[in-house]
Amino acid sequence: TRDQVTYFGAGPALLPTSVLETAAKSLVNYNDTGLGLAEHSHRSEIATGILNSAKEDLAKYLDVPDDYEILFMQGGGSGEFSATVYNLVNVWVARRKEKLLKELNLAEGEEFPEDELLKEMQKAVDEELKIDYLVTGSWSLKASQEASRLMGFEHVNVAADARQVNDGKFGKIPEESTWKLSKNPAMVYYCDNETVDGVEFPGFPKILEPKGGDDDPIVVADMSSNILSRRIPVKNFSVIFFGAQKNLGSTGVTVVIIKKSLLAAPPAPALLRKLGLSVGPIVLDYGTIAKNNSLYNTLSIFDVYIAGQVLKKLLETFPDKVDGQQKIADKKAKLIYAALEKYPDSYKIVPDKSARSRMNICFRVTHLASGIDDSERTFLKGATDQGLTGLKGHRSVGGIRASNYNSISLKGAEQLAKYIEKYAQGSK
Ligand code: PMP
Repeated sequence: TRDQVTYFGAGPALLPTSVLETAAKSLVNYNDTGLGLAEHSHRSEIATGILNSAKEDLAKYLDVPDDYEILFMQGGGSGEFSATVYNLVNVWVARRKEKLLKELNLAEGEEFPEDELLKEMQKAVDEELKIDYLVTGSWSLKASQEASRLMGFEHVNVAADARQVNDGKFGKIPEESTWKLSKNPAMVYYCDNETVDGVEFPGFPKILEPKGGDDDPIVVADMSSNILSRRIPVKNFSVIFFGAQKNLGSTGVTVVIIKKSLLAAPPAPALLRKLGLSVGPIVLDYGTIAKNNSLYNTLSIFDVYIAGQVLKKLLETFPDKVDGQQKIADKKAKLIYAALEKYPDSYKIVPDKSARSRMNICFRVTHLASGIDDSERTFLKGATDQGLTGLKGHRSVGGIRASNYNSISLKGAEQLAKYIEKYAQGSK
């Protein structure tokens, strides 16, 4: 039964049983309407109500300021790798054009010849357009590769590559003083929690903090695997995005929290084409999605409903909102890391202590159980026998990964910590 299993998979992840039970009923007959929720129109009042209350509850739980918009999109975290590039390059081009026209100091009514403007803009794009990436793990690496694919290598600046400070492997965040940030990049992108490598930023980077001027960096963060687990200074970010399938809900919706000032009209597609820049698909256009309250096209309201139920449960459980959840998330992570640290002969924690993720705890089982190197397999089998499942590391890095998302109970984390200790003792 569900009660006998604690699933530590990296995503899709566990959802609270009570949420699933309510959702299951809604799937057949939503609120006695005689129709299941996945059958109701996304244009119905029911749908709008569900969408708006999920937005409200998310804003409440994370204290999202009023000058931010919340969007529900499709295409997953990977879709956002592309969307962030398209949208923020658009913003860069629009702002650069505005600046250029200002610099020209045109008299009232005077128009700058179109071909001259194009020439100047082309020069700006060729010489100045950069997108900065902090590459600290496989997901930010993938995002940077997508930017290169869409815009060309010449526009992508890897401002920091964590492998260079950690023997060619991910596991550490390079010192901020070594980051090679561009001048006025279209965005500085990073992944707050690297799900595969178990690397989490300890907090918002000091060097990116806004000072309140026009030159403040446009900061974009992928928070797919640690959103809702700790307080974040939303006002420091231009865009925060996350897929639902780890801490928020079921796979199928992706959330974007975006500063409203970035939703201004994008440059004309014809201008972008003339400048050799790609024009993004309309379904990834933040302005279009915002204008339509996330209902530009058919959205899975059932998935929004599940996310909304998770948020309601969080708000009920934690009167102090995300701070309450953060205390428990920290406690669970500490428990598991402490158990691993107690037996350094048996386990090696993969990332450096300074960048350890509270959400994805990655480690190797290092001793040789029964004389052959099958210790990780033995470890996993023993865990599964006790109902502790989903602990196998990502196929690209191997090892063990305990994903300690919000829905892992304190009891589940305690059970895992105990098993980690028992296993080390038993096979000595
Ligand atoms: N970013 C992070 C941090 C992730 O963990 C994942 C998926 N595990 C993605 C992006 C990609 O998400 P999706 O599979 O929804 O495209």
